[in-house]
Amino acid sequence: MAVTPRIQPTGGSPVVPTRGALRPLGLGEANLVGGFWGTRQQVNSESTIDHHRAWLDKLGWTGHFVEAANHSRRGREFTDSEVYKIMEAMAWDAGRTGDQDRDADLVELIGMIGAAQAEDGYLNTAFGGPGQRPRYSDFTQGHELYCAGHLLQAAVAHARTSAESELLTIARRVADHVCDTFGPTGRSSICGHPEIEAGLVELARVTGEQRYLDQAVLFVDRRGYRTLPEQEFGWPYFQDDMPVREATVLRGHAVRALYLSAGVVDVAVETGDTALLEAVAAQYDRALARRTYLTGGMGSRHADEAFGEDFVLPADRVYSETCAGVASIMLAWRLLLATGEPRYADVIERTLYNVVATSIGDDGRSFFYANTLHQRERGEPVPVDRERLHFAAGVRAPWFEVSCCLGNMARLFASLSTYMATVDDGGVRIHQYANAVVRTQLDDGRRVGLRVQTDYPETGTVRVRVTETPGGPWALALRVPAWAPGARLDGEVVEPGVAVVRKDFAPGDEVLLELPVGPRWTFPDSRIDAVRGCVAVERGPVVLCAEAAGDEPDNLDDLTVDVTVPPVDTEDGVTVPGRFRKLAEGGWPYTEDEQDSESEGPAQVRLVPYHRWARRGPSTMRVWLPRG
Ligand SMILES: [Zn+2]
Repeated sequence: MAVTPRIQPTGGSPVVPTRGALRPLGLGEANLVGGFWGTRQQVNSESTIDHHRAWLDKLGWTGHFVEAANHSRRGREFTDSEVYKIMEAMAWDAGRTGDQDRDADLVELIGMIGAAQAEDGYLNTAFGGPGQRPRYSDFTQGHELYCAGHLLQAAVAHARTSAESELLTIARRVADHVCDTFGPTGRSSICGHPEIEAGLVELARVTGEQRYLDQAVLFVDRRGYRTLPEQEFGWPYFQDDMPVREATVLRGHAVRALYLSAGVVDVAVETGDTALLEAVAAQYDRALARRTYLTGGMGSRHADEAFGEDFVLPADRVYSETCAGVASIMLAWRLLLATGEPRYADVIERTLYNVVATSIGDDGRSFFYANTLHQRERGEPVPVDRERLHFAAGVRAPWFEVSCCLGNMARLFASLSTYMATVDDGGVRIHQYANAVVRTQLDDGRRVGLRVQTDYPETGTVRVRVTETPGGPWALALRVPAWAPGARLDGEVVEPGVAVVRKDFAPGDEVLLELPVGPRWTFPDSRIDAVRGCVAVERGPVVLCAEAAGDEPDNLDDLTVDVTVPPVDTEDGVTVPGRFRKLAEGGWPYTEDEQDSESEGPAQVRLVPYHRWARRGPSTMRVWLPRG
């Protein structure tokens, strides 16, 4: 026993470091009440989780656990992880709502997977059974430790939301098996898909078991020496091309790189390894500056689902896997807790509003796997009972052959309230603005309560009312996004960063934050060749786009906009001045478009939030607009 948390958040939280600048709140300390995110959390609870479970049953992926020995497996090697991710979502959801039926479903699944666990703790339905490949015979694509990592995270969620957890017992046996097999005197291997690292550290935080943390350290230290077999995408795909400490930027498969980095932050925080923390923070900073879409999306290469080189960010060849967005939030959250730097909360906000909110259908039963910024042709609607075999964007689908993203969103939505605010030495800091109730305990034991009221991001007005205060001064800190110069706190202009009101509050006191959410032009880094000469429009934290759906003409390739006139808010949404050119038929070698084109008269082009696109049926869409 060595890893001991300082104060356990009430009701549990996915990441609970033993040290760091900020302390997370638990499900019992922060609640979303309607509004943009509360509504989505409710849809997740009432629709997405059941939808996900139904598909797992229909495809036989849950059945693998009871039929592993006598039934041919369906799906890819890593289907177990989809079961574990939805179990994690169920645990947070039941913990938040107290829903007994949800809990009963989860207990049923726990019984199923427990029955499939081997005597020595090994648990995976794709390897080691009759007619299957031997255990640990494919570190490249086998995903065995990856699946184990997701199991550990599900167990952490259940342990933190239940009085007793059989899932925690199963997870400890899995983790013990992993330590026995891959410990200092065991096999010196790593998994081709990181995830076990973050799972082991969090399990160490729950159980106090030093051995699990030590094993995570070993996995991090072993990576980067090209011990995985070479394959078509090279060692960077697995982040096995150079040691974590020596890398300067995130590279290779985006979800792998981000999951690894999240686990590395966990290791660095728990071991007090400042140099390691700084190394991964620098890699993330550079990836944000050079390899990230305006939306917060990561990954521009389809073939290997990978980061491109610096500034390779084509709008119509975006990959931006939904999982990479969720994983970027996981990493940014860990760095925020460790450092307290508000720019990480800015990243979370941008990615939530523009990747996560975009990916999921209004009914919570359809989703994007990839998130393009430019759709040139309308897609075909996908029937609600059919899985999709490719990841092309355009239309949200109920299921994909590889359906990693939906479970990732489900577990994030189920625990989303815990990302809204934190506690630190002096008081409470609010990172994300949503209708919410916060009741927590300061580090000195004093209890405080807050009610946050806002219709953000529609308007930028945020009211924070103190509902409970212990007497004596404490600090209420509010994030001012980097995009919000001119923001006002109780009428006074405040700089982007963190604005603090420190005083002896009385119940009923109110603090008013006004963020300027009006529309603004955003120009791309001039080194991104793919969108040079274009401009985007953002409104508050929301990226906007032009869209053509229904009987609207598909003429977005003809559009230019006039940046000398600012975009304006109207009753009908944001509009920008533009023109639709009538271009001559394309020829080759290319003709000069402008010489052969005539313009239709100026038009006011209506833009919609990017997260709303493709909700009126198949459509064409673009975020980056050519400047006229
Ligand atoms: Zn995914």
